Amino acid sequence: MSTGNAQFSALIRAFFQSDEGVQFFLEAVEQMPMALMLFRVEGTEHRLVYLNRSAMPTDQVAPPDLVGRVASRAFRAQGADLSKILDVVRDGREPVHVSEYRSGDGRVWEGDVQPIVGRDGAVNHIVMMATDVSSAVRQRADDRVEAAQANATLSAQATRLAELDKIKSDFLNLASHELRGPLAVLRGYISMLGDGSLGELPPSAAAVMPALDAKAAHMALLITQMLEAARLEDSRLHLKIETVDLRQLARAAVAAMAALARPKQSVMFQGGSAPLLVLGDRLRLENILLNLLDNALKYSPGGGEVRMIAGRRHGNAVITVRDNGIGIAEADMPKLFTRFGRLVTDENSHIPGTGLGLYLCRELARMHGGEITATSEAGRGSEFVLRVPLKQT
Ligand code: ADP
Repeated sequence: MSTGNAQFSALIRAFFQSDEGVQFFLEAVEQMPMALMLFRVEGTEHRLVYLNRSAMPTDQVAPPDLVGRVASRAFRAQGADLSKILDVVRDGREPVHVSEYRSGDGRVWEGDVQPIVGRDGAVNHIVMMATDVSSAVRQRADDRVEAAQANATLSAQATRLAELDKIKSDFLNLASHELRGPLAVLRGYISMLGDGSLGELPPSAAAVMPALDAKAAHMALLITQMLEAARLEDSRLHLKIETVDLRQLARAAVAAMAALARPKQSVMFQGGSAPLLVLGDRLRLENILLNLLDNALKYSPGGGEVRMIAGRRHGNAVITVRDNGIGIAEADMPKLFTRFGRLVTDENSHIPGTGLGLYLCRELARMHGGEITATSEAGRGSEFVLRVPLKQT
């Protein structure tokens, strides 16, 4: 034995040989927050010979009632199954860890039940030391209930959102079908009025025809957006593939949208003369271009130049639409291409829209094996780039 150990043993022995030391030790055990119970093994029974204050039941049973009684009766009466644990410790001669042991007074304990082996090699005492974990266990149970409630609320909200989504889709479908017919009639008459088939118009009436035609075309674009979104939703959107000259399509889109430009706005096309042949759906590609131009004009309320540039890069036809309008804040960029994703700011809250345009544009571009990307700066303008693979020659 080392000198240190010998000194320590001597100190302990001296401590317990003084009445004061023993008194102090017992007081410390009495007051410690951990529960301590000592059982004497008597054959197959375990008699409780000591329990400290923390171990005392909180209900009516006073300590003298328990001390001196055997575990199988004293504790079973309180509904706990401690005597079985004591049996295991005595027979196994090994400590047992108990977690969530419930005593008769409703408290929950976590701790260890330890055999004490006498000089004769037999387990003659068993000590149980445990901590009251009732409040932690209660908290865990409360947390579980709270989590379950939060889950239920979330799934109810998800169901409600799915329902609302469905209602929106159904509404889109219905509204767009109902609007399409009357608008076709209106556009027919506008065209007849414009080309003189219904007789010569007085100059003042002829002057408003381009604006009427442009507004009707704009309505047609919105209705198409709604119809296309509903088709996409129901997996009914199928492309009609043919060879399309994207440059020529872009030029025509600029010409069509120029009629919608306000006095301080201009729309320019830049793109050489070589065709940009792609395999695609003419009407859908046209819709993408019209949408991008429409947005560029809409979101430049203070005026400015909208430029559409056609070119080729890395095997793709590339159409760039650039404006110097209100731009988009960095934080709003992730919402840009989402369904019904409208960005609400002071500058654009008065500008009408469905929030479907860019979502559709991107889905359509991807169906063509291409992509649409955007870069922007709030207050300075935006740039949208459409890429579609060039037709292999
Ligand atoms: P909307 O029908 O609202 O125009 P879009 O899907 O076409 O729907 O566009 C989504 C949102 O992105 C718009 O509400 C607008 O806030 C923003 N946005 C789109 N294009 C531009 C642009 N050229 N400049 C600034 N903001 C734009």
